[in-house]
Amino acid sequence: MTVKDIFETMDYGTAPESTSEAMAWLAEHNAAFGHFIDGAFTAHSNGFASNNPATGEALAQISQAHQSDVDAAVKAARKAQPTWAKDGHARAKVLYAIARLLQKHSRLFAVLETLDNGKPIRESRDIDVPLAQRHFYYHAGMAQLMRSELPDAEPLGVCGQIIPWNFPLEMAARSLAPALTTGNACIVKTPELDPLSSCIFALAADSAGFPAGAVQILCGHGHDLGAYLAGHPGIDQIVFTGSVSTGRAVATQAARNLVPAVLELGGKSAAIVCKDTDIELLVESVRWGIFFNAGQVCSAMARLLVDQTIYSDVLDAVNSLAQHLQLSHSSSLPSETSSMRMGSMISTAQRDRALGMIQAATDGGARLTSGGTFQSQGAFLTPTVIDGVTPGMDLFQQEVFGPVLAVTPFDSPETAIRYANGTDYGLVSGVFTQQLDQALWFSKRLRSGQVFINEWFAGGVETPFGGYGKSGYGREKGREALLN
Ligand code: NAD
Repeated sequence: MTVKDIFETMDYGTAPESTSEAMAWLAEHNAAFGHFIDGAFTAHSNGFASNNPATGEALAQISQAHQSDVDAAVKAARKAQPTWAKDGHARAKVLYAIARLLQKHSRLFAVLETLDNGKPIRESRDIDVPLAQRHFYYHAGMAQLMRSELPDAEPLGVCGQIIPWNFPLEMAARSLAPALTTGNACIVKTPELDPLSSCIFALAADSAGFPAGAVQILCGHGHDLGAYLAGHPGIDQIVFTGSVSTGRAVATQAARNLVPAVLELGGKSAAIVCKDTDIELLVESVRWGIFFNAGQVCSAMARLLVDQTIYSDVLDAVNSLAQHLQLSHSSSLPSETSSMRMGSMISTAQRDRALGMIQAATDGGARLTSGGTFQSQGAFLTPTVIDGVTPGMDLFQQEVFGPVLAVTPFDSPETAIRYANGTDYGLVSGVFTQQLDQALWFSKRLRSGQVFINEWFAGGVETPFGGYGKSGYGREKGREALLN
């Protein structure tokens, strides 16, 4: 293969990953998991299956946690926390150890995540698992520096953390690392749709040397379990990522006990495309902005607001991108390394919800220009572009949480700002322009937690993250998460 071929196909060759290690790991655990409480897994009991959404095959049986499991976890956490809080250097040692274990077993973590979630191996291997490592490395350093960097900081006590299914390992690491660093004990409620990386993480945490009760993992459907955890009198803080309606319920539960909540509830983020935009650069950002993780990202580039003078050129370019992306099948991991592949959605229910929103938009006068189709097997939805989405449509206002880009023209900078800020959300936004003064003009007027300029998803584990309005409150990552 020539370099020219590689540029044209973006095919990086065969990946070294295979599913054999992950399948052997599942078999070693009889493909059945209980909960990790007080330093050990409970026996598997009645529950539900965790499936590969790309194939529909069951991967493992998962137990449903009950109130007695939450009570046991809270008791163990309260016992462990005072000792864990004593010494920042001792905490740093364990946090470095878990980071190294995530690195050492990164292939196993990545393959398991891909099988359980449906995302391409390239994304779990090159983004999710390295980011999870980075959360722990960064925080291990902060644990060492606690006395000089945050001299008056005190732990809250026991933190409950309810994790969503879009980045199960990375989100768990994002919530756990700062709370553990500051001397809290943590109880994680794993997402019911893809809990396996949390199960293997629990074993890694045990090997890393966390004392029993410092990190605990409960599996199960959210409604009763999540509500009980959020409202438990032995919990001192609750961190939640997920939908607005569930976030509201979680905050209400926390308020009953007058404990703080951190809510990360998604968005309907807009990129403003000015008439001097470098369209090739924009296409690269759109590729990741809306088609990364099949668009199931809280900070996805869900809306593209385009200066009307370049509208048709931009629409052609994003349609060409959407039509070149291929679907990635988790059942054939070894050949799935191209950056032009998009994975399955998490479930057929999520896919059907997205299809419903696409249908409503086209019924309302918008035009489907790419995608909008699905396959009989798996929860795949083809990369979708919809032209002429107007502010009154649900597709303009509501989160799809899928690979669906809504494109809208604007006729002036003021209209662009009005459109961008014209939803209840305010998580991230972006501006594409070659003029710095124009970028600054827009970024000062955009109401969102972050504004990206000529790119999307900027910022590492050190960069605080969170939004305005219905995107929630509190901040994750960076120094702000430690202060939370
Ligand atoms: P959800 O908000 O219902 O679930 C998120 C988590 O909360 C899961 O772990 C779930 O078990 C738990 N949960 C459910 N009910 C609960 C309750 N009453 N109390 C406490 N915890 C509870 O989200 P979902 O049904 O998985 O997805 C629905 C929509 O949520 C998606 O379409 C998307 O718009 C949004 N979502 C956003 C994010 C994000 O990153 N912001 C992540 C996942 C889902």
